[in-house]
Amino acid sequence: MNELQSTFLAKSEVKAHDLEHKRKISWNIDKYNAAVVKGKEQFADLELARKKAKNIKWKAIEHLDTHLENFEKKFIARGGKVLWANDADEALAQILTICKEQKTTQVVKSKSMVTEEIHLNDFLEKNGIESVETDLGEYIQQLDGEAPYHIVTPAMHKSKEDVARVFHEKLGTAPHLSPTELTLIAREKLRSKYQTAQIGITGANFWIADTGSICVTENEGNARLTTALPKVHIAIVGIEKVLPCIKDLNLFWPLLSTFGTGQKVTSYNTILNGPKQMGESDGPEEMYVIFLDNGRTNLLAEPAVRESMYCIRCGSCLNACPVYKNIGGHAYGATYSGPIGAVITPHMKGMEEFKHLSYASSLCGNCTEVCPLKINIHNMLLVNRQLAVKEGLNGFSENMAWKVWRQSMMSRKLIAMASTGMKNKVFHSIFSKAWANRRNEIKFPAQTFQQMYKQYQHQSTKD
Ligand code: SF4
Repeated sequence: MNELQSTFLAKSEVKAHDLEHKRKISWNIDKYNAAVVKGKEQFADLELARKKAKNIKWKAIEHLDTHLENFEKKFIARGGKVLWANDADEALAQILTICKEQKTTQVVKSKSMVTEEIHLNDFLEKNGIESVETDLGEYIQQLDGEAPYHIVTPAMHKSKEDVARVFHEKLGTAPHLSPTELTLIAREKLRSKYQTAQIGITGANFWIADTGSICVTENEGNARLTTALPKVHIAIVGIEKVLPCIKDLNLFWPLLSTFGTGQKVTSYNTILNGPKQMGESDGPEEMYVIFLDNGRTNLLAEPAVRESMYCIRCGSCLNACPVYKNIGGHAYGATYSGPIGAVITPHMKGMEEFKHLSYASSLCGNCTEVCPLKINIHNMLLVNRQLAVKEGLNGFSENMAWKVWRQSMMSRKLIAMASTGMKNKVFHSIFSKAWANRRNEIKFPAQTFQQMYKQYQHQSTKD
């Protein structure tokens, strides 16, 4: 068992029995579930919309190379700059170069999982650059020194009392402020940062190939300020966030908002085509798009998991997953948690290190059921397990256990032997600690079904 796996198990064990954590998560997810039902009403034929969206993404990912080149051409033609990053280090180096060119001491950021993936904030801080999160949930997490808990709602695990405590401890505010008061304080603290930051950094929910645009979806208006006020805007974008045509937003914006938060449409949806043009009053003087691979082409190269690249990061599968709801987002030890995180992380960050995440599932299939893109998530968790075995990554004891199991299952005699009292002995000496820790002891019947049936038959003929 590697260190990541033992940390995962230890953290999961703690969270799964933390009733207060469960209460907060259930409260938030119940609210989400109620909103999604309402949001779905806007679709005349939701199933058709989901199928169509999947089809668009399938086609787009199959022609990813052409779309990337088309984007680059269009974006450069309007004065934008496109950079390519194979991994996190390359992306960070490119960002640092831009920061140095601009003599930047401060950047503002809007919510972006890609920047979490490359650990941008830590990197900038180490290089003497202040990086300020401007999304309220991210701001709370940054103040508290925690990574986002959920890909859509970063502070989902915190109650309003928790947030008031964080503000009190980190900003010295009164201890029991209301959500409105807390929001106003955050707003006041952040407003001045937009004016002083030389660079604004965002991710993108989609990039559009035919127009060379990026799209940013948000509810607070902070991303608009991040992209409009600083002199330079850098967007770091995963290569898989492609949409072929701008008209595809007709479908993808409502899908993302409905499955992400239950809204019909998110409050602010911005399409950015490049830096400020001649005669325009708003926008950055320079705009960069950094296309990040960082393991995404591993997903592309493996046909059995390629459709995980269709993901629009709505978070729906996290909210539906019984494992996520019990262990929470931080236990996974990965930027992308929940079912989709368990599918993509082993490919993006190493099968050997993260294969255990593919077992963090009951395989109930609820993730697949709720995914707006109908991504076959639970099936890909099985594929990951198969790939790990094929690569010889399962340990000696697991191999042995399966060998013994196979032998036993193929022999009636062995099964019967294991059932005559031995089963209790074997089970209790090997598994009792893991099993009975929080459960009642298991007692296997002394007789097998076959033995009982024989007895029954014998009895019946006698009668
Ligand atoms: S896999 Fe589907 S449900 Fe999960 S975050 Fe992605 S789009 Fe949403």
